[in-house]
Amino acid sequence: MQYEPVIGLEVHAELATQTKMFCGCRVVDTTTSPPNSSVCPVCAGMPGTLPVLNRRAVEYGIRVALALECEVQPTSIFARKNYFYPDLPKGYQISQYEQPLAVSGRLTVDTSEGERVIRVRRAHLEEDTGKLTHISGNGEDYSLVDLNRAGVPLLEIVSEPDMHSLEEVRAYATGLRAILRALGVNSGDMEKGVMRFEANVSIRPAGSEQLGTRVEIKNLNSFRAMERAVAYELARQAYLLDKDEAINQETLGWDEGNQRTYVQRSKEEAHDYRYFPEPDIPPLVIEANWIEEIRARMPELPRAKARRLQEQYGIAAAEAAILTTEYEIADYFETCAGELEKASPRTAAIWMTGELFAHLNQSGAAFSDIKVSPKDLAELLDILEAGGVNQNTAKIVLGEMLASGSSAQQVIHDKGLAQVTDTGFISTLVKEVIAANPKELASYLAGKETLVNWFFGQVMRAAGGKANPSLLKEELEKQLKFLQKTR
Ligand code: ADP
Ligand code: MG
Ligand code: ZN
Repeated sequence: MQYEPVIGLEVHAELATQTKMFCGCRVVDTTTSPPNSSVCPVCAGMPGTLPVLNRRAVEYGIRVALALECEVQPTSIFARKNYFYPDLPKGYQISQYEQPLAVSGRLTVDTSEGERVIRVRRAHLEEDTGKLTHISGNGEDYSLVDLNRAGVPLLEIVSEPDMHSLEEVRAYATGLRAILRALGVNSGDMEKGVMRFEANVSIRPAGSEQLGTRVEIKNLNSFRAMERAVAYELARQAYLLDKDEAINQETLGWDEGNQRTYVQRSKEEAHDYRYFPEPDIPPLVIEANWIEEIRARMPELPRAKARRLQEQYGIAAAEAAILTTEYEIADYFETCAGELEKASPRTAAIWMTGELFAHLNQSGAAFSDIKVSPKDLAELLDILEAGGVNQNTAKIVLGEMLASGSSAQQVIHDKGLAQVTDTGFISTLVKEVIAANPKELASYLAGKETLVNWFFGQVMRAAGGKANPSLLKEELEKQLKFLQKTR
């Protein structure tokens, strides 16, 4: 049977505010800060303390809502989501439930089959929980609690079940990450857990409009884990339906070690959180003025930027997509393009997405660490365009620039890499190479014309790779033709 995947995502994004959601504790890097170094009576859930809403967290939430074309609700309500677990000292999490911050949005993504619109059902504010570390083995069995993350603002973004392939899931998740980064509300550092996913997965017979029974896979902390978990689930559900077995509505976890999902709880065990309105926080009333102020300060979003780069600089869609994955990459490109005098922006795009990224991949360095400034790259590309070095030498020069941080001029000068354009010199080299290879010359003259390429390589080698390739080719062809005629 042919099945259609149906996937909805819930994305938890930390909001990169200075302080926590309901207290003045600083938001710290939970992967490097000493445990419980940023905790106060409020986020530790001491009795008698009162929460005060962080205005910046709301502003960041609105920014995301606007970027996702949501309707920001004039009034939203905080609620208590009750459950008992040591990562949550209050015994409840403050969240939004029936009246979220924003509803009815959409995210447009590009896939190999064209544009897709994924509807966003809602986006609501909530507080993050603490982090537990379970210690067991060697006769020990206990858990450590770190409350640094407790009370950090989160935005939960819930999609409609509009994704129908792994590619769409990937495009939505990476598109969302790019938007959050562009808005400056989230670093996108997946290893630090600033974005976490829950995937709701079901399948249905191809062509059917009805939704199948879904499972929810919790705590997916990377794009990779999410894709693997969804793929695993789609296969498992198809296998069950093919055998006429039912799919149980369950909450699953992802077992990274064994690369499979496992049951965390069944529908019968589903939590009843006993939500009720948070009595300590008044309704959140958002004035239209404020929304308009925030809208007026919205930065250019990644897809719009990609489109503009294509139009403004004449670069290809694929290059524009790569250059706009990160804000600083697009900035680098635009600065470089602005510095170019002879070479075209298209050349800069090709060199960045080709040579520069290949080098980063190889060295494992981050983009922000590269030693070559946009201006230095522009200088190299102008020298290349003007024939000061040939294509291959330019790659070598760039390698040196990336390693040492020197300018193109400097590297070319120090290493003697300037292109040889002296026709007299090239002509002499051609003569010498032809004279030194009588056997090849004979084959060439006997009709093996492709040997011209071999001769080209030999002369280029004799020139230390620095000869101007078109001058070399011209000179070589001239001399060979002459020998052909006078034979
Ligand atoms: P909850 O997780 O609280 O039960 P919802 O029922 O509103 O919340 O759904 C949560 C997510 O599950 C949403 O992203 C939604 O798109 C997705 N979803 C709902 N039904 C299905 C389905 N049959 N298949 C796949 N995803 C679904
Ligand atoms: Mg859910
Ligand atoms: Zn605090």
